[in-house]
Amino acid sequence: RRVSGPEEQRLLELLSYGLVAVGAGSAVLLRFIHMPYGRYSSRRFGCLLPARPAWLLQELPSLLVPIGLAACGGEVSAAWPNRILLGCFIVHYVQRALIFPLLIREGKPTPFFTFALALLFCVYNGYLQGRSLSNYAKYPSGWLKDPCFITGFMGWLIGMAVNIHSDHILRNLRKPGETGYKIPRGGMFEYVSGANFFGEILEWFGFALACCTIESLAFALCTLFILGSRAKQHHQWYLEKFEDYPKNRKIVIPFVY
Ligand code: NDP
Repeated sequence: RRVSGPEEQRLLELLSYGLVAVGAGSAVLLRFIHMPYGRYSSRRFGCLLPARPAWLLQELPSLLVPIGLAACGGEVSAAWPNRILLGCFIVHYVQRALIFPLLIREGKPTPFFTFALALLFCVYNGYLQGRSLSNYAKYPSGWLKDPCFITGFMGWLIGMAVNIHSDHILRNLRKPGETGYKIPRGGMFEYVSGANFFGEILEWFGFALACCTIESLAFALCTLFILGSRAKQHHQWYLEKFEDYPKNRKIVIPFVY
């Protein structure tokens, strides 16, 4: 039996609560263990996969699932606010799944466990955001001129620019063949250790404001929990590793945390 209509809306609501619970649970877990990837990578978490194909495959569902759902969507997905918001989500994942892996230089291999978790997350969230925007989110006429939409859209855009710029800075820290770590400088790294994570968090809170759906808010909160924890681990790691690490740099939210 196919679930649809109010039953599916209830399912999407439950999945949203689930996403927040996953994010909060991860944040608690990450206080005690390091996410096994990059500088913390370990063979204990399964065989190691090369970084490029791992990133491509794990992120691809967040691109393909919403495209498929939008293609089958009816009236709702044809409305302009829905098209634009779905477009924002898809643009992000074109960059993350297709462009980002091609640009990786000497990235560490990804343990199978980390790959599998990311893949599951992308299927889950691709369905959640894709289905919500292509079938259920309804906006009043004039939504595209509403301050909520405009502020949220700008937040999404600026967040994505900060994320891409910060990833670019990190990538260029190494000369060809190098695999070690250096102190990132410039851009938002002057303010926070996790500048790429700050960009991504801003991006999804902006998206949530523009969407005004429980699904998008759940995604933003989950991102805050997961990337906030990663930023904290990186920050502590930098402080231990580099004596001359800038002491005024915050963890992930400029001037605040
Ligand atoms: P990291 O900052 O850990 O690493 C990004 C890349 O930069 C890696 O190739 C890493 O190499 C390299 N790097 C990082 N720090 C240094 C340094 N100090 N010196 C030299 N090289 C460095 O980011 P993540 O891998 O965690 O994330 C990558 C992107 O994916 C980010 O933009 C993030 O926002 C996004 N992301 C989003 C998630 C979400 O929930 N929405 C979840 C996870 C990631 P190496 O691999 O060797 O460590």
